[in-house]
Amino acid sequence: MDLRPTPAEQALRDDCRAWLHENLPWEYGRGLPPRFDDLADEVAFGRDWQARLAGARWVGVAWPAEYGGRDAGAVGHYVVTEELARARAPELVGRIGINLVGPTLLAHGTPEQKARWLPRILSAEEIWCQLFSEPGAGSDLASLTTRARRVGGGWVLDGQKVWTSYAQFADWGVCLARTDPDAPKQQGISYLVVDMRSSGVEVRPLRQITDESEFNEVFFSEVFVPEDRIVGPEHEGWRIANSTLTHERGVNPRQLVVHAQLVDELLRLALDQGTFDDHRGAQRLAEAFVEVQMFRLHNWRAISRTAKGEAPGPVGSINKLWWSEMSKRLHDTVMSVLGPAAPLWRGARDNPGDGSWQRSWLYYQASSIWAGTNEIQRNLVGERTLGLPREPKPAA
Ligand SMILES: Cc1cc2nc3c(=O)[nH]c(=O)nc-3n(C[C@H](O)[C@H](O)[C@H](O)COP(=O)(O)OP(=O)(O)OC[C@H]3O[C@@H](n4cnc5c(N)ncnc54)[C@H](O)[C@@H]3O)c2cc1C
Repeated sequence: MDLRPTPAEQALRDDCRAWLHENLPWEYGRGLPPRFDDLADEVAFGRDWQARLAGARWVGVAWPAEYGGRDAGAVGHYVVTEELARARAPELVGRIGINLVGPTLLAHGTPEQKARWLPRILSAEEIWCQLFSEPGAGSDLASLTTRARRVGGGWVLDGQKVWTSYAQFADWGVCLARTDPDAPKQQGISYLVVDMRSSGVEVRPLRQITDESEFNEVFFSEVFVPEDRIVGPEHEGWRIANSTLTHERGVNPRQLVVHAQLVDELLRLALDQGTFDDHRGAQRLAEAFVEVQMFRLHNWRAISRTAKGEAPGPVGSINKLWWSEMSKRLHDTVMSVLGPAAPLWRGARDNPGDGSWQRSWLYYQASSIWAGTNEIQRNLVGERTLGLPREPKPAA
């Protein structure tokens, strides 16, 4: 593993940092993006910011230049994502399109689908959501029951999805639906693109513990999906879905920088609060620091594999497991440093950070669930890395 950047990678990093110094809507290294009470305002700000980034070709840098990327590969994507996070830029509002849908379309879409959808993903003109999970199908996704019935010119969709992030803002969704109910579980599923403004689509936001509503229930009632909105062959959606899911894990430069920044701020807070005077408190701070350094090494190992053209494989699972468990421990340490201020919310007096630490603690509780739960990641590591026997099937 050679960790030295190539001249091209270093130039990309320098160019991106210089652009951010010039163009950030807040002061580089000092300011922060605005905070919004209303998610719709945050999304509107995020669309505008992503459009500016895409205009300078800082979104989807790994994508081919003909669709608005830079052909900069996985390492280029890593470098630019790190620079954006260092500048404290918010996570890209179109991230589901950029990170999951785009790579799937690049691998399996028709030339017409790529030309139609890819450029507008980067510019945030169109936002996408992922319509995979259902009330009875999460970890065991192949149990999904949403039906797509064949009719002249396309399919008619009926069923329900859940936990669909950003569905209330989405223009399009990638949806797994059963097109052959008589086929075995993982066969007979198709990968459809749904126009979220179609008649028969109902989106109901769900309230989270952070008091926000990022994710939703989505109901389909006789929704028509035209013929040209299938990705890959009919009934072969499971294979296409797996291609989407492999992009959910792997390297995570944004979480690396965000958590490294969190540790820096935590150490400053701990100095203010006198936490270092307490032996156990000092030890927990040291652990937080070391864990983020270990996450850096996990990331480097994963990017090194990806750069050589190898799939992240079980390394992606280990990375996801490590950062989500680390994040929860780190946030627990934040709460212990906050002491009596830990249960306070925004606007409370004598509350360092005005509730941002507490919001972050609540938000990251879900990190062990999204992108495949940690129990499932442990199964994958056990079976594919350690060669342990597979989970026994229940007796018939
Ligand atoms: C913040 C957030 C955003 C999300 N956004 C989206 C989205 O945009 N689109 C989308 O489609 N989905 C989304 N999800 C859903 C997510 O993918 C599912 O929550 C996840 O796959 C788990 O499914 P489930 O909630 O149905 O839990 P279940 O699968 O019902 O699992 C319940 C518990 O049982 C455990 N378990 C299940 N099977 C096994 C097993 N074989 N071995 C050991 N333990 C097991 C699980 O680990 C878990 O602890 C999101 C989730 C979160 C938290």
